[in-house]
Amino acid sequence: MKAVKARKDEISARSRTRFESWLKDMPGSTVYKGHARFESAREVTVSGHLLTADQIFINEGGRAIVATMPGIDQINFLTHTSILQLDTLPHHLVVIGGSYIGLEFAQMSRRFGSEVTIVETAPRLIQHEDADISAAVREILEAEKIIVRLDAQCVHFEPRGIEIAVRLSCTLGPPDIQASHVLLAVGRRPNTDDLNLMKAGVELDKRG
Ligand SMILES: Cc1cc2nc3c(=O)[nH]c(=O)nc-3n(C[C@H](O)[C@H](O)[C@H](O)COP(=O)(O)OP(=O)(O)OC[C@H]3O[C@@H](n4cnc5c(N)ncnc54)[C@H](O)[C@@H]3O)c2cc1C
Repeated sequence: MKAVKARKDEISARSRTRFESWLKDMPGSTVYKGHARFESAREVTVSGHLLTADQIFINEGGRAIVATMPGIDQINFLTHTSILQLDTLPHHLVVIGGSYIGLEFAQMSRRFGSEVTIVETAPRLIQHEDADISAAVREILEAEKIIVRLDAQCVHFEPRGIEIAVRLSCTLGPPDIQASHVLLAVGRRPNTDDLNLMKAGVELDKRG
């Protein structure tokens, strides 16, 4: 995994450097690095600079949601960002959330050699897709010896030595599984909470 991570770091650094130079060298383009916040509908501050424009395009992306599940504050969990910093292979990765991001990390980790369990609260994987797609994806994952636990309505976590007990206590399957690592993949939220959008006259709803 050290070599895998080194290769990933090298590819992403190369891509980032190229992209940044392209933007910096483009006529009429200036790149400021820092956290931008609105001062008014037409003003933004970043790293001590006040920028003014008639139109401001907001493109701040999102981050992983940390769901309020019992025991989550007692364990070290991974998100789709921090899992990319691992340079050792999880012995048993438990993925909470059976949608696109959870499934891609589940399959990737299994193919690297981890034992993998996917825990999903809904009765099927990737609910945004049709039921036959969910069933086909489940079949593919199970053929690779990934354990899929659906209808897991009662997930909670507990540290157990250097490992983590993930309690499911649901109707099907063993009530308790032991993980070396837990990946939370239960959705993403927009990074709009620290942009001072109120100063720009924009109200946020509860989903940001
Ligand atoms: C694990 C994973 C796998 C994915 N796989 C796919 C895929 O296969 N295909 C696909 O199409 N999409 C995929 N996506 C989705 C895709 O990454 C996003 O749709 C895309 O990155 C959104 O682009 P964006 O520029 O809007 O936001 P981002 O790529 O998130 O970029 C936003 C940028 O804004 C910066 N920023 C945030 N707040 C501020 C601020 N206040 N001031 C200054 N800068 C700020 C952030 O640091 C970031 O650099 C995946 C996402 C994840 C997490």
